[in-house]
Amino acid sequence: MIRTLTAIVLRPTPFQEGGLIVSFLTEHGERLVGLAKGAKKPTAKWVSSFEPLSLVTVSFFGKEHVELRRITRCELQHSPLILGHLESNLVVACLADLFDRLAKEGLEDDRLFRLLSACARALKQTPERAMAILAYAEHWLLHCLGLLPHPRLCGRCGREDTPLVLFSEEHGWCCSACTPVDPEEALPAGAKEHLRLLRTLPAEEAPEPDATEAARAITLLLRERLLRELGGARSYDVLFKLLI
Ligand SMILES: [Zn+2]
Repeated sequence: MIRTLTAIVLRPTPFQEGGLIVSFLTEHGERLVGLAKGAKKPTAKWVSSFEPLSLVTVSFFGKEHVELRRITRCELQHSPLILGHLESNLVVACLADLFDRLAKEGLEDDRLFRLLSACARALKQTPERAMAILAYAEHWLLHCLGLLPHPRLCGRCGREDTPLVLFSEEHGWCCSACTPVDPEEALPAGAKEHLRLLRTLPAEEAPEPDATEAARAITLLLRERLLRELGGARSYDVLFKLLI
């Protein structure tokens, strides 16, 4: 049976005899893996289609529920990679890594596909804003995982007119009225406003992660939470080693 889908390439891994095993995020938000035989040979016409975050039309051949389907066709529609733009290309690798580990085979979540394709388009348009787009993706991934409560109301006392001072795993966002926090350790003023920008703006207008003290604190907090959930990510080690 042949099945043709729109999908985003996540991770290509070399396989025997010049083949590639490639993971994809399908348009339905499911992770699918296929084998592209001979994809690494110089004559292979489809090799450029297997770069991370490429939007492709891909055909799989194989029975349902078979571990490894064969890729019979893969046509490139769009790639966010930009020759020579190191920061943006490293962010592409981080996003591919995050989605490769969070998307699941047999579990459709089309929010994941919408998020990743919006981020890929924004990266191509404004590669210099790559770090803002990464922070935007991290925020929405936490939301999709159910790990990020809405910041409008305090998760502990329910007030909405007080500043947020703390994010706890037990209560979520906690406000200054119910949660005494050492001023040194409290979230900076404007945390709620930065979270509102993340929730309401499209990917191409993602707020800068270092625009304000609150933006910096929220970006770090959300990134740490996500990476803790994943048990770390090598793509981030590479990103930070090269950018610092
Ligand atoms: Zn409160």
